[in-house]
Amino acid sequence: MSLNPSVFLKEIEEHNSKFVETNKTTSIASENPLQNLCLASQEVLQKAQQSGRSKCLKCGGSRMFYCYTCYVPVENVPIEQIPLVKLPLKIDIIKHPNETDGKSTAIHAKLLAPEFVNIYTYPCIPEYEEKHHEVVLVFPGPQSISIKDISFHLQKRSQNKSRGQNDDLDKPSFKRKKIEDQEDYDLNDSMCKNTILKKIIFIDSTWNQTNKIFSDERLQGLLQVELKTRKTCFWRHQKGKPDTFLSTIEAIYYFLVDYHTDVLKEKYKGQYDNLLFFYSFMYHLIKNAKCSGDKETAKHTQ
Ligand SMILES: [Zn+2]
Repeated sequence: MSLNPSVFLKEIEEHNSKFVETNKTTSIASENPLQNLCLASQEVLQKAQQSGRSKCLKCGGSRMFYCYTCYVPVENVPIEQIPLVKLPLKIDIIKHPNETDGKSTAIHAKLLAPEFVNIYTYPCIPEYEEKHHEVVLVFPGPQSISIKDISFHLQKRSQNKSRGQNDDLDKPSFKRKKIEDQEDYDLNDSMCKNTILKKIIFIDSTWNQTNKIFSDERLQGLLQVELKTRKTCFWRHQKGKPDTFLSTIEAIYYFLVDYHTDVLKEKYKGQYDNLLFFYSFMYHLIKNAKCSGDKETAKHTQ
């Protein structure tokens, strides 16, 4: 069964205008976190969705919204109409080679915050050996700490490093090391004193493949950080995967929201919401299509 596309789009439009209105007062909703986001106009995506696949200006491939191999928006999605998100730190995403590119939401981060995000395809990943005092790996496990404790643990590592000790040694700290070298991160003085985290690493992979990347020796010894438990809104359910296993863009987004409030100690006002620019659009599109039984739309967008 198919739905009249204009009615379909109108519904999306009404839906979007609703959450633009509510944005000003609310930051993050607890029930459906994609409801109250501070998003740029998604009109460009609505139009692109209506006109169908378009050409990637780099490789010529036919794609919907963006090219998942070149990390650029397609011809009918002008790059100026895509929001640019400024992040308080850099992000490395390590992608499993078997992961189907078109399904990965890691690309959303690269499209929306290109200066801050790098995607690497495993096994070609950077060396972090000398960076254990300023880089963390976001991955759950018995070793992992919570976001609010990042600064404490990194400072300890930083002190140990300057004394030539091993990261793992749990020695009491003597004097707080002065934090320098914040580069061009737009942070004020008081923040700099508490913040030394420069980069976070995410593993973008299916549930079954993450452990292989995680156990790579180049990622050993990194401080491991765990996100608060949240349920995913992802529409591609993987068999045997709990609903608390977030899609990569959700994980990045939630990390940054918590980092902003728990580490930078700033009130969150939707600064990173546009990281979900594509995600929320696709989510609502698929949800609406599924509700109305429009399998074609759901299929095309996936
Ligand atoms: Zn391309």
